[in-house]
Amino acid sequence: MQTLRLVIGLLMTVVLLGLAGRRLFHLYRIGKAGQPVEPGRLGAVGPALKSQLVEVLAQRKLFKWTGPGLAHAAVFWGFCVLLLTVLEAFGSLFDPTFQLPLIGRFPALGFIEDLFALMCVLAVLAFVVIRFREAPKDQGRRSRFFGSHLGPAWFVLFMIVNVVWTLLLTRGAQINAQAVNSTDNLPFLRGAFLSQGIASLLAPLGQHTNEIIETVALLLGLAVLLGFTLFVTYSKHLHILLSLPNVAFARRPNALGALLPVTSGGKEVDFEDPDEDDLLGVGKIEDFTWKGLLDFGTCTECGRCQSQCPAWNTNKPLSPKLLMMGLRDHALAKAPYFLAAEDERENLPDEVRALAEVPLVGETGYAGDPLAAYVPGGPDGVIDPDVLWSCTTCGACVEQCPVDIEHVDHIIDMRRYQVLMEGAFPEEAAAMLSNLEHAADPWGRGASERLAWAEPLDFEVRVLGAQGEDRIPDDVEWLFWVGCAGALDDQAQRTTRAVATLLHEAGVEFMVLGEMESCTGDPARRMGNEFLFQMLAQQNVETLNEVGATKIVVTCAHCFNTLANEYPQVGGSYEVVHHSTLLSRLVAEKRLVPVARLDREVTFHDPCYLGRHNRIFAPPRELLGAVPGLRLAEMPRTKERAFCCGAGGARMFMDETIGTRINENRTAEALATGARTIAAACPFCITMLSDGVRTLRPDNEPDTGVEVTDIAEVLLRAVRPDLDDSRPQDATP
Ligand code: SF4
Ligand code: SF4
Repeated sequence: MQTLRLVIGLLMTVVLLGLAGRRLFHLYRIGKAGQPVEPGRLGAVGPALKSQLVEVLAQRKLFKWTGPGLAHAAVFWGFCVLLLTVLEAFGSLFDPTFQLPLIGRFPALGFIEDLFALMCVLAVLAFVVIRFREAPKDQGRRSRFFGSHLGPAWFVLFMIVNVVWTLLLTRGAQINAQAVNSTDNLPFLRGAFLSQGIASLLAPLGQHTNEIIETVALLLGLAVLLGFTLFVTYSKHLHILLSLPNVAFARRPNALGALLPVTSGGKEVDFEDPDEDDLLGVGKIEDFTWKGLLDFGTCTECGRCQSQCPAWNTNKPLSPKLLMMGLRDHALAKAPYFLAAEDERENLPDEVRALAEVPLVGETGYAGDPLAAYVPGGPDGVIDPDVLWSCTTCGACVEQCPVDIEHVDHIIDMRRYQVLMEGAFPEEAAAMLSNLEHAADPWGRGASERLAWAEPLDFEVRVLGAQGEDRIPDDVEWLFWVGCAGALDDQAQRTTRAVATLLHEAGVEFMVLGEMESCTGDPARRMGNEFLFQMLAQQNVETLNEVGATKIVVTCAHCFNTLANEYPQVGGSYEVVHHSTLLSRLVAEKRLVPVARLDREVTFHDPCYLGRHNRIFAPPRELLGAVPGLRLAEMPRTKERAFCCGAGGARMFMDETIGTRINENRTAEALATGARTIAAACPFCITMLSDGVRTLRPDNEPDTGVEVTDIAEVLLRAVRPDLDDSRPQDATP
């Protein structure tokens, strides 16, 4: 019997692992067909190792969701420990009394193995409860599992249970067959409390029967395990294998903040003199980098990203999860084509060759069913344009994804191709892009109006060049970057004046660029128009370098992100602070003293490009906390889970015609706190939330008494109660 079980066991292993290996090699070839990654991503061994410890081993991101996180960690850690039992099982194919060197002598090993086996089963039960509670059939698109492959997920839970019971049955019979409790054989099994329990049940059957049960259960267990391994290579559970490299090669610290420069063949494209054959963005699946293709294959379909996505939550067809799944399925379907040599392609089946012509982005005619907006097999497009253009680049998906998938980078790469190569983008954004090109601001107002905001102030704002200087004088500490909205939008002008007044009050010497300032290029870049971004960014960097700017304070979260994180890509490196940081510092240093009580509740909306993208959560709260009498009422979705206002990703300049409005969703949440002041720290957010307050206002109620304002204006009221410039016209004081 020993020989028979060795032969059957080895045969199964060779066949099933061979099939799994063949599949993995195919997947490796698909990844290899992708483009090289951008310079600098590889080679950082320390951070890659740290990410394996923190993200994979410690399951950091999974624990953001306590219940599912615990269940997943139990299965993950359980399977790590159970790998030891796999070694023991293979060893016992050769020798029924095989034990692991050194640790096999200790009963504690058996105890730990059984304990983790039990944890796996309990975790499976927890997953069953979670999957029933969050079932798409009950919750529709509100379920994070909407659109996920549910059958394979249930099958995997079933297989985990099979792995565990066959293991325990093998060990229970082994204890009797090898007389573990009365000899020196297999000492680790003496501590295996569950296996011992099964052994007592099987003991009356006698040694010979136990030997047969041991062999049958061992072979069955190996078949389950090897079959499970093979199944994994064909299913979404590929993440078990792929999440390790995916996390290791992810952008550090994460794929938020700066967008990546456009690269072609692993080299940055020079937009002043691009090569004829430079790839500008992603137009077909093979144009993604190998890391992109790895991302798609690693998606676990857990739906954490989908559950947080503002586009998905307002009934738009974009789901970051469905996007990853759609691109993965398209890559798998098209692989035989792009992996074949050119002269072999004509021999491929028609349906495979047809995929070569399917554009990544094309009208799918999804007509309300979001699942129909993703068509991996074409023929008109893999994803609908409404999927691509619904993204606000808020980063909630990247923040949530437990396997470090970089959704925003992929969305922007596809937008780049649409804009730069196809000239295809939402019509209503054309005016904004043209204004940026001709007037260097999104509204086309031009440089001459950039100083109008300062006229009502009772002190003089220093403007570079006004006194004939061509560099920032030594006595000026900060260059105040006003931004297009801060200079040209009525409501944002109040914030600009409030910040200028507070800096003046604190005795901080600052200066503005006035007419020399242009849009940072953020909306152009997030639309995918990298040419225009490069033009504006290079112009600004040239100006900033010429005038000797070193320290810049900025009120707009988008300007902040671009100046701080993206201008280094075009040769501009400065110390950039958001006004929330500088003002809270001035309050802490007592250079600004809030004296007046503001007896009201205030809720704070975290701008995505301040909070999630740049981790600035504390300064705005510290600033509000310094105002006497003010009570902060947090919204349920706050800090890294804050819901977008709907303006990012250049969506501020596009109509929102599908589903419900993102700004109204967020405004309703803010109003539900009961606060009468909604504070933010970005002019785009303030515009969106103000619109939200106006549209959610009950009919016939001209003034709800709710104001939307910047944190600087709130602080100004406490520091200089004599000034009322910052108070909104329609708000009840
Ligand atoms: S960035 Fe925001 S809007 Fe875009 S897919 Fe991710 S969660 Fe959705
Ligand atoms: S992209 Fe990440 S968060 Fe979204 S479903 Fe896939 S694994 Fe989960």
